[in-house]
Formats: sequence, C-alpha cells, structure tokens
Amino acid sequence: MSSLCVLPPECLLQPFTVPQRLMLGPGPSNVPARITAAGAQPILGHLHAETIEIMNQIKSGIQYAFQTQNRVTLAVSGPGHAAMECAIFNSLEHGESVLIAINGIWGERAAEIAERIGAKVNTLVTSAGGYFTNEEIEQALDKYRPVVFFLTHGESSTGVVHPIDGIGDLCHKYNCLFLVDSVAALGGTPICMDEQGIDIMYTGSQKVLNAPPGTAPISFSERACQKIFNRRTKPISYFLDMNLLANYWGCDDKPVRAYHHTGPVTSFYGLRESLAILAETGLENSWKRHKEVAEYFHKGLGEMGLKLFVQDKKARLPTVTTIVAPPGYDWREITGYIMKTYNMEISGGLGPSAGMVRSSWF
Ligand code: PMP
Repeated sequence: MSSLCVLPPECLLQPFTVPQRLMLGPGPSNVPARITAAGAQPILGHLHAETIEIMNQIKSGIQYAFQTQNRVTLAVSGPGHAAMECAIFNSLEHGESVLIAINGIWGERAAEIAERIGAKVNTLVTSAGGYFTNEEIEQALDKYRPVVFFLTHGESSTGVVHPIDGIGDLCHKYNCLFLVDSVAALGGTPICMDEQGIDIMYTGSQKVLNAPPGTAPISFSERACQKIFNRRTKPISYFLDMNLLANYWGCDDKPVRAYHHTGPVTSFYGLRESLAILAETGLENSWKRHKEVAEYFHKGLGEMGLKLFVQDKKARLPTVTTIVAPPGYDWREITGYIMKTYNMEISGGLGPSAGMVRSSWF
C-alpha cells in the first residue's frame, strides 16, 4: 500500500491510443509519415552542433517559404499565438500607436494583445467576409500615424485572402512597419516578403506546412530590426525577447549562441522536414495545387447546392473554405455527423463566421 495521498491515476494505467482521422479543419492538418518519422529521431541537446545545423537549415527553409533574405529569421518555440505575441511585443512599446486591420477574429486578437502591452490601438474595421482597399489603408495610416500596421493575410475565421500588393510601400511612406499574419495562408497562396515590402511576418507549423503544432516561423526585415533592437524599454516577455531569440538562432553577430530556453528539438526535426518537402515541391507548385484543389472543391460544393460565405471569388482563401450552413440545419449537427460517420474533422465557424462550417484543404 502506498502512503501517498494522491494515487496513480487509473486513466494513465490504460494503454494509449489515438484514432486515425482525416483533418480537414483549419489546422492542424494531417502530418505526412516522413514528418512524423523525423519527430521520432533521437533527442539531441538544444545547443549540440547537429541541432544548430538543423536550426540553420530551418532558417534557410523559412527564408525560402517567406521569400526573404532577412538575417533575422527563425522559428519561435510555440504555436502561432507565440509568434503573434513575439511580433507585437517586440515591435511596439507602451504608448506607441498601432493600426490593426480587423476583418475577422485575428485582427481582433492582435488588437487585444497590443492593448495588453499598453499600445495605443487604432482599428480599421470592415464586415466579415470583406477586405480593405489600399486607399482605405492609406487614409487610416495618414490619420493615425502608427508605428506598426497589422494585417491578416489569410483570415481563417471568414475564409478571406487579403491582397498585399502596394501596402508595404504605403506603410513605408508613413514610416510604419508592415506586420503580416500568414498563419493560415503561407505556402498555400502567393506572398513574397521582400518583394512586397513586409517588415514582420509569421506563420504556424501545423497548417500548410503539415508539421505538428508547436513551432512558428517568423522573420524581421532590416527596417524592423532597426526598431526592435533600438527600443527604449525591454519587451514585456523574456521568452519572446528578440534580442535573446536572435542570438539563440544565430541571427546576430555574436560568435556563440547562448542558452535561452530548451528548444523543442524533435519539433524542429519535423519543421525541418516539412520545409524540405516544400523546397522539393516548389513554392509555385504548392500555390498552384492549392488554387486548383480549392477551385475544384468550391465547384463541387456549388453543385451540391451549398453556398460559400465569401461571394467574391478572388477573395476566397484557397486554404480555408467557409460554407454557409444550409437553413434549418445546425452546424454542430453537420460537423458532428461528419466526424461520427466519416471520422473527418471539419470545424464550426469562429467569431464572425459562427454558425457556419469551415473546411480546409491543405
Ligand atoms: N492567425 C491565424 C490567421 C490563424 O488561423 C491561427 C490559427 N487558427 C492563428 C493565428 C493562431 O495560431 P495557433 O492556433 O497556432 O496559436
């Protein structure tokens, strides 16, 4: 008899099993066997020479995926939210003005994060399913004179892909950094960080990249580095401080990398393999495949009599499709039935698309 007051939990004494499932929600997506196998490789120390080499390969892979030459390019240890906080915490200081484009929940969330660090939050809001013209963005930049402009590339709550061309130049005209959330879009629809004048961009590992959740690629332009490495105050988070992370990822001039945190090495292996698959496939092929599959899928849905939430065809995000639940049906019953009958995940709407169903085809 044990003298402990808390006994080993009965549930943990049972065998562990996880069902096979077709993951068609807006992420995480199914992980190819090659990536799962990479994650099952032996653990190495987070500062071993081999791990550093893997981290360097990840950096090159992110530079390719983002189409950037930025020196400060790395993967945050954490989900998309960690990269989102990293971008906002490092680029903004208390009292500084930020402009956030809101056409779904990700803009709302960015506004909440910026508010928590005491930034002066200004918003540009449109209805769900909509997006902004460059004229509207310029007017808001002129009015609020922000130091950072936040835009969601792929708004997964509504299924809208936002046009990016010309916005970087506008931001720079107003001496503002252009920050883009491409968690739900990167790799599945064109975006070229350097060419489009994006200063800070991040994504997640579990969407188009098909790796397990838990690592989040991010990159900072030279212009962004000028701002983030010359702050008056330290960023609120030690864990997400880019001064420390840049050193940990070998993005600064220091000859040695110091211990900052214990990187999730097996997740790095998976991310490395997912970026290798993208490099082998080719970005353009990946964009083309997502476009073709999305168009085929949308056509099929139309033929079934289902209505898509995004009316404007060119605004439809190829990676996440939002479908209006037919009148008289509850979305929970639809997603529940599909899960029970076909073991397939499609998800319910989020924020403005609550009451609808969302499906992706990464
Ligand atoms: N931004 C967008 C556009 C997303 O779709 C998501 C995840 N659905 C996130 C940020 C947050 O990513 P995570 O859930 O990995 O924190």
